Amino acid sequence: MSRPRPIVTIDGPAGAGKSTVSRALADRLGFVYLDTGAIYRTVALAADDEGLGEAIDRSDLAPGASPAEIARLEAIAAGLAIGFEDGGRRVRLAGRDVSAEIRRPEVGQRASKVSAIPEVRRALLDLQRRIAAGGGVVAEGRDVGTVVFPDAEVKFFLTAAPLVRAERRVGDLRERGIPADVDQVLAEIEARDARDSKRAVAPLACPVDAVTIDSSGLDAHAVVARMEEVLTSRKNA
Ligand code: C5P
Repeated sequence: MSRPRPIVTIDGPAGAGKSTVSRALADRLGFVYLDTGAIYRTVALAADDEGLGEAIDRSDLAPGASPAEIARLEAIAAGLAIGFEDGGRRVRLAGRDVSAEIRRPEVGQRASKVSAIPEVRRALLDLQRRIAAGGGVVAEGRDVGTVVFPDAEVKFFLTAAPLVRAERRVGDLRERGIPADVDQVLAEIEARDARDSKRAVAPLACPVDAVTIDSSGLDAHAVVARMEEVLTSRKNA
C-alpha cells in the first residue's frame, strides 16, 4: 500500500446501507469517515438558502438548469463552508448544524439533481481530496472509487435489491421521526438510481477493481466483517 494508511472507498446506490457500514468500518479501523453524499446534500441545502431550491426542482438533468443558475451552483459548491464533527456524523454549514436537515428526502432529490452538474462535481473534488489527503479514510459515495480516489487501496461496491433498500430507508427515516411510505420511497430510490447512473459525468458505476457485496440478505455487521476480511487479505498479500 502506497500511503501509510489506506483509503477505502464504498460506492453504491441509495439505501444499500453504505452509511451504516462505512461508519462502522471507520470506527473499527480508527479511520476518518468521509460521507460525500452529505457534501452534495449540503450544496443542495446551501442552494435552497440562496433561493435556488425551486430552480433545482424544476430542472431535470444538468441541461435543464440555466447557465446563470449553473454558475451560481458552482460558486456555492466551490465556496461551501462545510465542517464535519463527531467522526463525520455531524455536518455544519457556515457553523449551523444541518445534520438532520440534509437527511430530508427533498434534499436528497435536490442533491441528486445538483450532483449531475459537472461544474458542481469538479468544484467539490478538491474538498474531498483534501479531507482524505493523509489516508486512513473510509469514503462513501457514488464515484469515490472511480473518480475522486481512483488510486484508493481498497474499493467496495455495495448494493442491494431496490425493495430492500426502500424498506431500510423507511426504517431510517421513521427512526428519525420523519414519516415515510415504502412505495413512495421505492419510487424515489428508483428515480435517483436512474438519474445517478444516467448522468454524463461520474455516473454511479462499479469500479473495475472493486469487490462487490450484495447486502440484500446480510445485516450491517456481516457486511463489515466481510470488508474486514478483504482488508486483512490485502494487507497480507
Ligand atoms: O448518499 P446520499 O443519498 O446521501 O447522496 C445524495 C445524492 O448525492 C445522491 O443521490 C447522488 O446523486 C449524490 N452523490 C453523488 N456522488 C457522490 C455522493 C452522492 O453524486 N459521491
